[in-house]
Amino acid sequence: MKTIGLLGGMSWESTVSYYQIINRVVKERLGGLHSAQCLLFSVDFAAIEACQAKGRWDDAADILAEGARRLERGGADFLLICTNTMHKVAPQVAAAVSIPLLHLAEVTADELLHRGMTKAALLGTRYTMEENFYKGVLQQRGIEVLVPDAKDRAMINDIIFQELCLGRIEDASRQKMLSVIDGLRAQGAQGIVLGCTEIGLLVRPQDSEVPMLDTTLLHAVAAAEMALA
Ligand code: GLU
Repeated sequence: MKTIGLLGGMSWESTVSYYQIINRVVKERLGGLHSAQCLLFSVDFAAIEACQAKGRWDDAADILAEGARRLERGGADFLLICTNTMHKVAPQVAAAVSIPLLHLAEVTADELLHRGMTKAALLGTRYTMEENFYKGVLQQRGIEVLVPDAKDRAMINDIIFQELCLGRIEDASRQKMLSVIDGLRAQGAQGIVLGCTEIGLLVRPQDSEVPMLDTTLLHAVAAAEMALA
C-alpha cells in the first residue's frame, strides 16, 4: 500500500472527513483490521486565511510547499491538498516536491464526465467560484460551469468562513444553500459540484433531486484507490 500525504487543516473540520473516508475505503477493500497508511501535515488555518484575504497567495504557497516537502521527507508517495481553494497554488506546491499531486479539480472533472455531465454548477469560496484556477480545469475538459450570482456567492462564502470552517452547522444556512442549488438546477445544471470541502458537512445528496458531487468524498476515495493501486 502506498503512503498518502495529506496537506490538511483547511479547515480541520473537513480534514477529519478525509481521514474517515480514506480509512473506510481501505477497510472496505482489504477487510479486517486494515487501515490507510497516511501522513498528515495540518496547517494553522488562520495564517492561510489571512494570506487569502490579503491576496498574499505566494506566502500561502510557501507554507503549503514547505508542508509538502515535509510530507515527502516523511515518506509520502503522493500528495493531496485537502481544500479546493488552495488549488490556486497547486502549481507551486507540485513544483516543490518530486512526488505526484492528486489534483482535486481533475478528480472532479473525471467524475463529472464519468457521469455524462457536461454542464455543472460550482459552489465554493468566492476564490473558487470567481477565479479560473479551478473552473478552468473543468472547462478545459469540456464542462460548462455555472456559478451563483454575486449576492449568492457572497452569502455562500460567508457561510463557509463564518460557520462551516468553525464547525457551525446551521439549518437556516442549509435552506439558503438548497435554494441556490434549486436555482442552478433551473438554469440547467446537471450536477452540483460541492467545490468546498466543508459544504458536504451542511448539505447531503438526499437533500436535493439534482445530483451533488461532494469533492471531499471524491478526493478521499480517489486517494484511497491510488494508495491501493
Ligand atoms: N475548505 C474550503 C475549500 O475547499 C475552504 C477553505 C479554504 O479557503 O481553503 O475551498
